[in-house]
Amino acid sequence: MRDPFARHRLPLLWALLVALPPLVSCSPRHAAPLNVLLISLDTLRADHLGAWGHPGGISPYLDRLARRGAMFRSCIAQSASTLPSHRSMFQSRPASLTDDERPVLAELMRDAGWRTIALTGGGNISAELGFDRGFAEYEEDRAGLSWAVPRIASWWEEGNREPFFAFVPGAGTRELCRRLRGLEGDGDPPRLSPVERRRIRSLYAGGIRYTDAEVGRLLRVLEGEGFESRTLVIVVSDHGEELWDHGTVLHSHTVFQELVHVPLILRDPNDERGGALVAETVRNLDVAPTILEGVGLPVAGSFDGVSLVGRLRGEIGPSLPAVSEMGRRKAFVDGPWKLVLDGRAGSALYDLQNDPGETRDVAAEHPERVREFRTLLAGLGGIVRELSAEAPSPELTERLRALGYID
Ligand SMILES: [Zn+2]
Repeated sequence: MRDPFARHRLPLLWALLVALPPLVSCSPRHAAPLNVLLISLDTLRADHLGAWGHPGGISPYLDRLARRGAMFRSCIAQSASTLPSHRSMFQSRPASLTDDERPVLAELMRDAGWRTIALTGGGNISAELGFDRGFAEYEEDRAGLSWAVPRIASWWEEGNREPFFAFVPGAGTRELCRRLRGLEGDGDPPRLSPVERRRIRSLYAGGIRYTDAEVGRLLRVLEGEGFESRTLVIVVSDHGEELWDHGTVLHSHTVFQELVHVPLILRDPNDERGGALVAETVRNLDVAPTILEGVGLPVAGSFDGVSLVGRLRGEIGPSLPAVSEMGRRKAFVDGPWKLVLDGRAGSALYDLQNDPGETRDVAAEHPERVREFRTLLAGLGGIVRELSAEAPSPELTERLRALGYID
């Protein structure tokens, strides 16, 4: 089997060069190791943020962070579901090639001396599913960010200072999913009127507005504690949400762009230029190696991703080949080209540059490319599944009601 990532692995000489202590940790201004704040926002499609061109003005804090930090315009998630996507991110492996034996990001950080804490909403990011691995402190609360933001402030006040690695996932946009499951039985795509569809879209926008405000609050707490100039901040999402782009709604069912194109923002406190815009394709599985190199730690041999630290400093690199998996469906993105294998239904090739909505299958015009991509995907075997629907959070429901998105 051919390794889908092999041709993008670094040659030996280059690997030796990047193995030298990275600039980030050696900066004279910051002799101490950097802190890391990893914010993973559930169910957030990239094209719904202002920084990615959405006109709604629903993400002012994330847009500001994207202006001040590096914005990766084309980041692909390895799955369209919470559990496999987060496993993939922490193990830096394609979703169907993760397992419980591989090291995860938090273990490497903890073993190197970072104080590790995770404040999750439970559900598909729970201790039961192994997400407590590597965290010296792991807490769950269904209230999500509205609980996690004050909780991390008190954790710092309790004397847990630096260097820290804090993982704070937020799930505000998942409310849509919960509400829909209440509208219709599981399984069938909901049959909703245009008015109901508008309402669902508005509910999704409300979830983003809520989540954005909580991220703003979290960043203010970070600043208030005096950590801003010594903390690497990463905002990423595990997958997007379909809003009738391909005929239905919710996630965990296909690998089209509305589900796998996610935002990625990285703010390096040592970057004085700010605002780097990276157009080339990168992957969620590159987040863990980027964090490790960013704080001056070696990248684990089992990681498939590559560090994006060079791109933060303006180095130009190639688009990285990205794989997404959901159920039996698989997608392979290479530059502007995307092959979708749809279980038994066959395959389709899309030209993302000229057809970003994936409406026209051009496989017949490019048979060699289809063959090549099929071969690259053949090494990925497993069926990637989500486990459970989430229970609603009373705090979020209350906030959405106050904003007028629900009755
Ligand atoms: Zn999710």
